[in-house]
Amino acid sequence: MIRIFIFSFSLLLLAQCQPKEPEVTATNEEETTRPKNIILLIGDGMGVTQVTSRFYYGEGEPNFQRFPYIGLIKTSSSREKITDSAAGATAFATGHKSYNGAIAVKDDTASVETIAELVSDKLSTGLIATSSIVHATPASFYAHVPARSQYEEIAAQLTTSSVDFFAGGGTQFFVDREDDANYLDSLTANGFVVDTTQLQKPASFSMEQKYGFLLASDGMPKMQEDRGDFLPQATQMALEYLSQDEDGFFLMVEGSQIDWGGHANDAEYIIEEVKDFDKTLGVTLDFAERDGNTLVVVTADHETGGFALSSGESYNDLVGTFSTGGHTPDLIPVFAYGPGAESFAGIYENTGIYDRMVEATNWASGSPVASAK
Ligand SMILES: [Zn+2]
Repeated sequence: MIRIFIFSFSLLLLAQCQPKEPEVTATNEEETTRPKNIILLIGDGMGVTQVTSRFYYGEGEPNFQRFPYIGLIKTSSSREKITDSAAGATAFATGHKSYNGAIAVKDDTASVETIAELVSDKLSTGLIATSSIVHATPASFYAHVPARSQYEEIAAQLTTSSVDFFAGGGTQFFVDREDDANYLDSLTANGFVVDTTQLQKPASFSMEQKYGFLLASDGMPKMQEDRGDFLPQATQMALEYLSQDEDGFFLMVEGSQIDWGGHANDAEYIIEEVKDFDKTLGVTLDFAERDGNTLVVVTADHETGGFALSSGESYNDLVGTFSTGGHTPDLIPVFAYGPGAESFAGIYENTGIYDRMVEATNWASGSPVASAK
């Protein structure tokens, strides 16, 4: 009995002599895993098959493959099983499920703060889209209206929003308006340097000013109509501008027309837009790798077209087929890279994208700067 006791006692002593995990580890880890910047890339209408297409078309390894953490989101809106882009983007931007057509308003149409507004006191924010800048996805990050079709009101709200950099189409909603007002002038009056002719870096790219590029009357041209490198180049330019902010930034980049290819049941259209989006992922990942403090999250609001790559003449012959001209309720992939990326693994609601971004950065604490350090 005594021997057993002594033996147990020695074991206990031995256990106590084992070096313990230092108490501070958790705190250190917490600090080092908080990103300073977030880049959220949305491929509108981009389901798994749209992503798959990049693995069979285009040159080189897809940038999608560079993400270490993958998840899936459930996309239903507050009232419909199948969401539209407005409710989808509102979920990402605010963390609230709303009805189809809602632009950053809750199901009861009350305005709700967006992630871009949440951080704007301390950080810089940017929005880029290949649609018009007043289209549902970008609009849900700065405007609050009950219906996505209120383009002119959305344009008016952009002029006084907290956005520091934007690029996309949509000049007609600023100058060719029913109320005859000139909201390009309002942009300028509110501190924006606006370029409606080309995506060219201004001579002095200073944080003292805000920048807006409106390069088409409505949506930007398709890739098949020679849009060229607008999306990757605008993203590069935004990163150059926003990364001057030592406190950090939030940037949303939308590949808007993957969705339009789906609505048109046009496989070529989808494939070219996905290739362009993937190229843009390369720009953001290259930046994030160099920077080390940037969380990159890639996802979509919903799938469009019920797109499939089916076998044609043989199993070596791929043919794009479709089951609908509208959206589908498919689970949607999420790709994440950088500090905090691991929390994006798993299956969760689309509002979880907002929750995880805010949690990773601690932005909701009201002290983004403190949390970034
Ligand atoms: Zn759509």
